[in-house]
Amino acid sequence: MKYDVIVIGAGPAGSTAAYEIAGAGHSVLMVDRRERPGTPVYCAEAVSRPPFEKLLQPKPEWICASIEKIRIVGPHGSELNIHHKDAGYILDRSRFDYDLAGQAVEAGCQLECRTIATRLFRKGDRFNSVELTGPTGERTRAEASVFIAADGAESVIARSAGMRNGLELEETESLLQYRLEDISVDPECVEFHMGNSVAPEGYLWVFPKSASSANVGLGISTPSKRSEKLEILLRDFIERGFGGGKVVGKTCGLVPKYQGKDRFRTANLLVVGDAARALDSLTGAGIISALMSGRYAGQAAAAYIAGRVNDLDAIEHLYPKRFLDVKGEELAIYLKLRNVYRNLNDGDFSDIIEALNEHFSNNSVYGVNAGRLLIGLVRTRPRLLRLIRHLL
Ligand SMILES: Cc1cc2nc3c(=O)[nH]c(=O)nc-3n(C[C@H](O)[C@H](O)[C@H](O)COP(=O)(O)OP(=O)(O)OC[C@H]3O[C@@H](n4cnc5c(N)ncnc54)[C@H](O)[C@@H]3O)c2cc1C
Repeated sequence: MKYDVIVIGAGPAGSTAAYEIAGAGHSVLMVDRRERPGTPVYCAEAVSRPPFEKLLQPKPEWICASIEKIRIVGPHGSELNIHHKDAGYILDRSRFDYDLAGQAVEAGCQLECRTIATRLFRKGDRFNSVELTGPTGERTRAEASVFIAADGAESVIARSAGMRNGLELEETESLLQYRLEDISVDPECVEFHMGNSVAPEGYLWVFPKSASSANVGLGISTPSKRSEKLEILLRDFIERGFGGGKVVGKTCGLVPKYQGKDRFRTANLLVVGDAARALDSLTGAGIISALMSGRYAGQAAAAYIAGRVNDLDAIEHLYPKRFLDVKGEELAIYLKLRNVYRNLNDGDFSDIIEALNEHFSNNSVYGVNAGRLLIGLVRTRPRLLRLIRHLL
């Protein structure tokens, strides 16, 4: 039970990391508590197309729907429709995650499913082993030079390494999603519904899986007084929009918000994906960050094992610095935007949708400059100026 690297969690972050390490010729064990990577799915499965295609060549079997339209529905029937040919994809996450894990195995990674990592053990200034509980309850210890925590939002591995796990209510969104079948939806269009009566301090999504099925979900900030009504709000919406549809799946979860750069590494433990809180705090999207952080962490671990970086502080330049150089600012901005968003009332939503309608009727969606857009919004709707303080 000695490996160069042990990866805990075979989600997109862990499998990408394991693939990089195995592909570089090093020994890597990846463990997952599930029976099969990718199942069950805890995700609305949407990815933005340009960053996704920068990271991977999508296989047709991963794609349930190609998105070319975005509809934002505000209170009192206000609506914004954006056409964007390359907007995104709705994935089949169960197939996608399974294939990514398979690619890692093909590259030489040893995958052990139904195996739970419970804690890390330290020797001197670094971790040297992890306790694993296998399918029949037997406990073992496996040793490695580098560990990668890719075990999702609740990361017991980051916690056992002494990182604050901070799933405090203030820092999370509560999500509930139904998979609906026997409905009629536009398979090229994702919908976001906003406003106090539909999604207080949050938003509701309709992501098509085909012309007759969709992920319909609601995410609202956990401390909201309405959070206990998540199910009632979602059922109300479904009843109004998709009465007669069949609920074939239900997913709920907490999505943590970004906590800054300190959660990505401690000693020889690299933390990736949701375990590192590398999520867009506004929408809860984390697939792209999981893939990207997994790749950079895998490359950093491989470089360390190969002796191309010889001390742990030097690894920091490869991971997390490389990831944060690309994504850090964006994640921090989304966190600020979340604070602005939570302070919007129905009047603000209507104002913003109206102003965006004006903006997009004159501009291509390819050339959107977020800063200029914000200035334009505040200039035409001065009362939105009060929201800027939540950005500071
Ligand atoms: C309802 C919902 C909807 C979402 N919708 C979207 C969306 O539309 N688009 C988007 O980009 N993101 C979305 N997300 C977020 C997205 O699912 C995550 O960001 C992404 O899955 C992160 O990948 P990961 O590899 O870091 O973690 P995960 O995918 O969570 O994988 C972690 C893996 O670790 C395993 N594991 C956990 N603990 C242990 C342990 N102790 N031992 C062994 N194995 C362990 C788990 O079984 C799992 O396989 C959504 C999340 C939720 C909850």
